[in-house]
Amino acid sequence: MTGRRMGERAIVLGGGIAGLCAAHVLSRFFGEVTLVERDRYPDGPVWRRGVPHGGHAHNLFQSGLAALERLFPGVERELVAQGMRRVRMPEDVLLLTPGGWMPRFRGRHMMLAGSRALLDQVVRTRLEQAGRVRVREAAEATGLCAEDGRMTGVLVRERNAENDGWGEPARMPADLVVDATGRHSRAPKWLERLGYGTPEEIVIDSRTVYATCVFERPELHDGGWESVLIQATGDSPQAGILIPLENGRWLVSLALVGGRPAPADVEEFRAAAATLRSPVISDAVKGAEPLTPVSSYGVTENRWRRFDAMPRLPRRFVPLGDSAGYLNPSYSQGISVAVRTALALETALREERSIDEAVASLRRKAAEIFEPAWKMSVGSDLRWLGPMKLPLRSRLLGWYMQRLLEVAARDRRTALALLDALHMTGPGAALFRPLVAFAVLRGGRGDDLVPPARR
Ligand SMILES: Cc1cc2nc3c(=O)[nH]c(=O)nc-3n(C[C@H](O)[C@H](O)[C@H](O)COP(=O)(O)OP(=O)(O)OC[C@H]3O[C@@H](n4cnc5c(N)ncnc54)[C@H](O)[C@@H]3O)c2cc1C
Repeated sequence: MTGRRMGERAIVLGGGIAGLCAAHVLSRFFGEVTLVERDRYPDGPVWRRGVPHGGHAHNLFQSGLAALERLFPGVERELVAQGMRRVRMPEDVLLLTPGGWMPRFRGRHMMLAGSRALLDQVVRTRLEQAGRVRVREAAEATGLCAEDGRMTGVLVRERNAENDGWGEPARMPADLVVDATGRHSRAPKWLERLGYGTPEEIVIDSRTVYATCVFERPELHDGGWESVLIQATGDSPQAGILIPLENGRWLVSLALVGGRPAPADVEEFRAAAATLRSPVISDAVKGAEPLTPVSSYGVTENRWRRFDAMPRLPRRFVPLGDSAGYLNPSYSQGISVAVRTALALETALREERSIDEAVASLRRKAAEIFEPAWKMSVGSDLRWLGPMKLPLRSRLLGWYMQRLLEVAARDRRTALALLDALHMTGPGAALFRPLVAFAVLRGGRGDDLVPPARR
């Protein structure tokens, strides 16, 4: 499907999941679209340096999957054909909330589980097959160019094949620039250099460190579940997640809250897994062969870069994906936010009359997509901040979220509202609907001793 021509040249910086989706969208509206990616892409679905967190547990939740399917029709079938698993929630998942095990009733939510590298590779291949985007690999963005209050291009330097160093930056002109360079985006610095100042950044940091190891799935295993998620509590400040990967593997990530050191090797990893609130994960991998060393990653704070609130921002500049803001990964929402925002970019370009109007409309829509996820993630993380002066609203939100997680183990309506919020399938305010709020205020817990069977 091709849209109306809105401009001549668009440039997307960063070729992760956000950049790939954005470039695909823009190729329907611009004569020429270039994707600038610092890495050289690997040949297959393997980890790469530019996405260092890509080796840790990644699930694609429902609304993100639906948005991806809209952008690349048939992609879900392709991902499943290549080994990703459809996991129904809560039916196929053992989920231990702070209030106990969530009952495994037949619900209405589904996630795709598998390796992040496979997801990126399948999307990248689809983009390449469409043949409408010029991909410049081994090319690094080093700055932005603006004139008369609007973006006019970017500075890009290329990796020198002979000595692996970088060449001199050159200017690439553009009518629209998307920054999708991820959580370490230098766009705030580049804007400052141009005299626009930097966006305010709101940071809520539970100082969580991820540690991950991949195991061979034991041939005889049938625990009656596809995936396990054990959430952290004040008494047990570490979460554990086990997801299926393609080729008969299991990926286990531990999320250690409060800056505790990550296990250094497989032995320490197994020992740490054994101290989770339930032994289900530890038991499952007891005899399983580890296929990788333990890797760790610690850039996990919630960070919202308020580009939308800057008094002055050059027109035709769109921060998208983690570069605009990111969330504690424990809630598995970052990719869904990125893909849904790329889809919103498509709608904005289709519906608005000019690039400027489309960008203004997207800014509002992007905040609408991000904010509910932010509230849920930050609301749950406030409990880790320790004694500090927080505004009453934040304290109430923190209390409410904590209680909601507890009640979800007992009350189906609350469990569904929680899943709606996680999958971003309901209205943004799903967690605060009157019947849910009533159940939360009444309180109560489920059973945290016995993992539930499917019902
Ligand atoms: C441990 C962990 C687990 C997570 N689990 C989940 C999950 O289960 N589900 C979920 O939905 N989300 C999850 N997330 C969040 C998800 O990984 C991010 O939201 C997602 O990676 C955002 O994609 P992106 O394209 O914005 O950024 P990235 O994937 O980080 O891509 C950025 C790209 O920009 C390139 N780049 C950087 N700088 C430059 C430059 N100067 N010039 C050119 N290229 C550049 C990089 O090489 C890279 O390719 C998790 C995050 C972490 C940290």
